[in-house]
Amino acid sequence: MTRLYLDFTQLCKTIALPVEESHYLTRVLRLKVGDIVNVYNEHAGEWSTVLSDVTKSSCVITIQRQMREPVVEPMTRLIYAPLKHDAMAFLFEKATELGVTHLQPMVTDFAQKYAVHADKVARQLKQASQQSERLSVPVLLPVMTFDAVVRGGCYAEGTYIALERADVASFAHMLADKDSSKPCTFIIGPEGGFSSREVELVKGIPGIVQVSLGRTVLRAETAAIVGMGAISMWRG
Ligand code: SAM
Repeated sequence: MTRLYLDFTQLCKTIALPVEESHYLTRVLRLKVGDIVNVYNEHAGEWSTVLSDVTKSSCVITIQRQMREPVVEPMTRLIYAPLKHDAMAFLFEKATELGVTHLQPMVTDFAQKYAVHADKVARQLKQASQQSERLSVPVLLPVMTFDAVVRGGCYAEGTYIALERADVASFAHMLADKDSSKPCTFIIGPEGGFSSREVELVKGIPGIVQVSLGRTVLRAETAAIVGMGAISMWRG
């Protein structure tokens, strides 16, 4: 089933698609008048539509019926230090599949210097959302420093930081008795890990729980997937 994340409301009868989506449907997928396309967003839910008009430069879809009601998603925020290009794309795709709602890039002492290309990231997130059958696209938040993140004071509960080689409880264990409808923030470090200064800093912040992801040292993108996988199963 072809799915498109679109800005529309339940009141729309027909929608003239933006150029990019028109091109995708008619030139890439080679859909024709009469073909079915599902459109969705977090406010309207998912709707079945039929491709009703196709010209060289645009196409129009006609709404048929609602397939899924919108759902309320509790915030699941992944705070990460930018990684190399391929690892970053992999993390975005997998975190989206696993239900992340907010992605927060963070500058740390040992992080890669890597510019955030917001437009490109938005496309990657949208594509991953469309294929994973969720009803929303994760929000990319502005970059913050590690110190601002941990001192932010907005983490009354449900904030976890992954630390390798630390004598702390496993993330899955920590989540087990918590209310799975509550917001959750998960912080991972860069390839070089957190500096000893950062680890010491976080130890003094009571609202942030240190967790283990197992006995082996994982690459940062693997750590993100393991953590997001634990949250995804906890959410159920
Ligand atoms: N460079 C570090 C080293 O070898 O000592 C390893 C850093 S690891 C590649 C990147 C991040 O993944 C860490 O900062 C941590 O947040 C997370 N991580 C990796 N393995 C982990 C584990 N077993 N438990 C908890 N966090 C882990």
